[in-house]
Amino acid sequence: MSLDSLARTAYNDDHEAFRQTVRRFMLEEIAPHAAEWGEAKIVPKSIWPKAGELGLLCPTVPEEYGGLGLDFGYNAIVDEESAYYGGATTGFSLQSDIVTNYIVSYGSEEQKKHWLPKMVAGEVITAIAMTEPGTGSDLQAMRTTAKKDGNHYVINGSKTYITNGQNADLILVCVKTDTEIEPKWKGVSIVLVEANREGFKRGRNLDKIGQDEADTSELFFEDVRVPITNCLGEEGKGFVYLMSELPQERLSIAVSAQASAQRAFDMTVGFARDRKAFGKAVLDFQNTRFTLADLKSKLQVGWAHLDWALARLLRHELTAEEGAAAKLWHTELQWEVMDKCLQLHGGAGYMNEYPIARMWRGARVTRIFGGTNEIMKELIGRKL
Ligand SMILES: Cc1cc2nc3c(=O)[nH]c(=O)nc-3n(C[C@H](O)[C@H](O)[C@H](O)COP(=O)(O)OP(=O)(O)OC[C@H]3O[C@@H](n4cnc5c(N)ncnc54)[C@H](O)[C@@H]3O)c2cc1C
Repeated sequence: MSLDSLARTAYNDDHEAFRQTVRRFMLEEIAPHAAEWGEAKIVPKSIWPKAGELGLLCPTVPEEYGGLGLDFGYNAIVDEESAYYGGATTGFSLQSDIVTNYIVSYGSEEQKKHWLPKMVAGEVITAIAMTEPGTGSDLQAMRTTAKKDGNHYVINGSKTYITNGQNADLILVCVKTDTEIEPKWKGVSIVLVEANREGFKRGRNLDKIGQDEADTSELFFEDVRVPITNCLGEEGKGFVYLMSELPQERLSIAVSAQASAQRAFDMTVGFARDRKAFGKAVLDFQNTRFTLADLKSKLQVGWAHLDWALARLLRHELTAEEGAAAKLWHTELQWEVMDKCLQLHGGAGYMNEYPIARMWRGARVTRIFGGTNEIMKELIGRKL
């Protein structure tokens, strides 16, 4: 099986040609190392420049900043192929689908010229740090502060669960530049912090139940001084920037969720065909066929919805609620597919040596990160 037979409508021939490059990279450079990186609990930095060389990182960065100036469809293809063939969470999508847009949309000319070419090349790895030990969903309650001292901010606080935290060279840190202002969101700013700044420390690479190879870390800021020019866009606009980038971030999660669900489904059809019980293939039991038929139908609907959402994003029409709905629906589908497919594997499904076990563990987080699915329902519900 592959992702080629799905009669997609979101992509043109150039997208599909790019897909073949991405697939080769995932099959040759990522999949063979997924288990080893899982044990090491980190993806080596050395894989990033290889991805950069092939144009897999930050495809939307304009040419004047070293990028290819392509559309988000190229990002989505990297996400799909990575989820289907790569089998490891590399952190590429965090950089390409999330961080890039902040710098392209709100960065100063100097910030863009300095960081974007290096991000495209994979010479610089980035992270975005919003969540804190005391608050995640309620971002306005963040406590990390950036206080002005002459031409500098002095940053104090801590962040947690930060993707790429160990590997990151540059962190977009969400801070309060004003702790008094009401409403509270007006006090939020985003500041670029280089990892070599004095007072910045990485904490633990956290022990997770899945996505073992993805580094997810604590970060500490103790009197970290950064020039005021490191503020992204305007001071006090951080929350507005975060909200405006959400549709794409959430669609990115939806894309990966759908592709990994398809992978689990395809693998399970193969398993059920080979596995025998009571003198016949497990696939020949009506329960197995009905379960898989039900999942196949939902996957079909899922791809059609994803193409609709991608087309809307490419036309800059996807709303925050539609992005939230896509994240909600595709991650719920992913969980349903993973869990039912694991069940059809019997005891093998519970063994880490079977890919379905690893995929099931990895899938559990997609209903939590990028805003929990309860928050997605809140966002959609608020606009009814
Ligand atoms: C693997 C992983 C990677 C991550 N990567 C990053 C990263 O790179 N950068 C970053 O900043 N963060 C990252 N996160 C953090 C993630 O975004 C948060 O964990 C998530 O937003 C939830 O926040 P929380 O953990 O504080 O949960 P809480 O906000 O404490 O929520 C606890 C529970 O309460 C529910 N809840 C909260 N508020 C409401 C409400 N208003 N209505 C109904 N229910 C509610 C939640 O849905 C949840 O079920 C990552 C998390 C994980 C697990």
